[in-house]
Amino acid sequence: MTTSQTYVMANWKMNPMSLGQSNDLLAQLATQLANPSKAKVVVFANQLDCLAARAALPSSVGVGVQCVSAIAHSSGAYTGETSAAMCKARMIDYTLVGHSERRHVMAESTVSRSAQIGNSLAAGLSVVYCVGELLAERDNQQATQVVQQQLVELLTLGDDVANALLQGQIIIAYEPVWAIGTGQTATADDAQQMHAFIRQFLASHNRQFANTTLLYGGSVKASNAASLAHCPDIDGVLVGGASLLVDEFCAIIAAFN
Ligand code: PEP
Repeated sequence: MTTSQTYVMANWKMNPMSLGQSNDLLAQLATQLANPSKAKVVVFANQLDCLAARAALPSSVGVGVQCVSAIAHSSGAYTGETSAAMCKARMIDYTLVGHSERRHVMAESTVSRSAQIGNSLAAGLSVVYCVGELLAERDNQQATQVVQQQLVELLTLGDDVANALLQGQIIIAYEPVWAIGTGQTATADDAQQMHAFIRQFLASHNRQFANTTLLYGGSVKASNAASLAHCPDIDGVLVGGASLLVDEFCAIIAAFN
């Protein structure tokens, strides 16, 4: 790991189903995380559960939304939208942008991602920008090319993004799409190789971008967390399915402590 601060982030996606399950999960997490860990923990709860998460979890734990509106307004007549500024006003400090499910299932566009990033940075949210290749792209030896293109999409957004990278307001999560929710994890070597590429590519734009926090995501579990934590360019993890299991999630945190 290159930065001293490590991160373990939970992506709850469209879970838990019931209010009772959600309250139970939060109560268990609040107990387990009562003492601040060395690794910074962030929970991307479902939008409905974000305020309950903020109220239940200790202040050392960050809470994030899984997406913010691409609309260029903080509030107004935009049915169904949630602005980055509204999140910040409710002490929700992080957002995901470019998660593979939003890229490939919800077909979010480059324009939408760019607007989400701009709105989030302007509102003061930290952005976890997700990149990663499809299985077919990896099989065709295009993995680095795809990830590079996704990084270029970020870097071309200009000075605000550059400043945010320098200030640690943008974190990059490498999540190979074929490893998300499939139980198939990239090997620590594969993950390390891509992380090293990402760090090098960022540094080729600005040497200081090399300090960007890089997370790995894709079927991270207690059983593979330690090997990922030992990789020099992996600063933390973004955890989907396993973040809904408190013991499993806490074991992952322990691996990054
Ligand atoms: C994710 O949703 O970001 C993720 C990595 O999911 P999972 O851990 O379930 O593969």
